[in-house]
Amino acid sequence: MPELPEVETYMRALAPQLKDKEIVNAQIFWPRIVAQPDPSLFCDLIRGRRFDSFGRRGKYMLFGLNSGETLIIHLRMTGELRVQPPNVEPDSHTHLLLNLTSGERIHYRDQRKFGRVWLVEDVASVLHKLGPEPLSDDFSVEGLVKALAGRSAPIKALLLDQSIVAGVGNIYADEALFRAGINPRRPSGHLDESALARLYEAVCWVLQMGIDLRGSSLGSGPQNYLPPNGVAGAAQESHQVFRRTGQPCPRCGQPIQRMVIAQRSTHFCAQCQPEG
Ligand SMILES: [Zn+2]
Repeated sequence: MPELPEVETYMRALAPQLKDKEIVNAQIFWPRIVAQPDPSLFCDLIRGRRFDSFGRRGKYMLFGLNSGETLIIHLRMTGELRVQPPNVEPDSHTHLLLNLTSGERIHYRDQRKFGRVWLVEDVASVLHKLGPEPLSDDFSVEGLVKALAGRSAPIKALLLDQSIVAGVGNIYADEALFRAGINPRRPSGHLDESALARLYEAVCWVLQMGIDLRGSSLGSGPQNYLPPNGVAGAAQESHQVFRRTGQPCPRCGQPIQRMVIAQRSTHFCAQCQPEG
């Protein structure tokens, strides 16, 4: 559920809470949460390390430790990370605890258990398949043209493909396609350079808007996203089509429609995003 803007907001909230804090030890309650290395080695390696730097790549959170290693966390659908005072006890959805010398504890909770944690020397060993970072110079119209050439898959599906561009998920893919006036079902390789230039601009714009508004806090339950400082995001208020099925298109007034592409709900305006 958290996409690039939500993960970026997460890191910006966690950095001041964790900077220079030292990890006493780790407690793992569900071993499969740790993808790499094996859980007992993970516990050995993380003991006594300090949080040094904070970054993000696509939807991955990167915590640089003073050992030079990086703790990588991907929240997937329902993962959540909280720095809690010592009196907050882990519950049945807490799969990893990091005890800090400050007395605080970092709780990793995850109802659906799709999230994963890595501790690695070489970040590329986990992230090597990721495509360009959209708000960096690595992402470009020329790169997009090249990556999509000859591809018959619908553009919506390839926007969700993290090897084409990192960090875009269902919300921001729908919003970007609407802003660019591109039908989500269009075969990717059929889009000409001017359409892809619009799409490039739209992807950057919706992601930056998402960051500026501290992410999208949607719905209720475990899939609702709330950053670690507990302040809900406001990007959902700027959504033009996402989860607005049946409501008037803000541009033309026609009802927003919904279809399924790559098993994902897709929201669009048939008039502003024509098929042809
Ligand atoms: Zn419209």
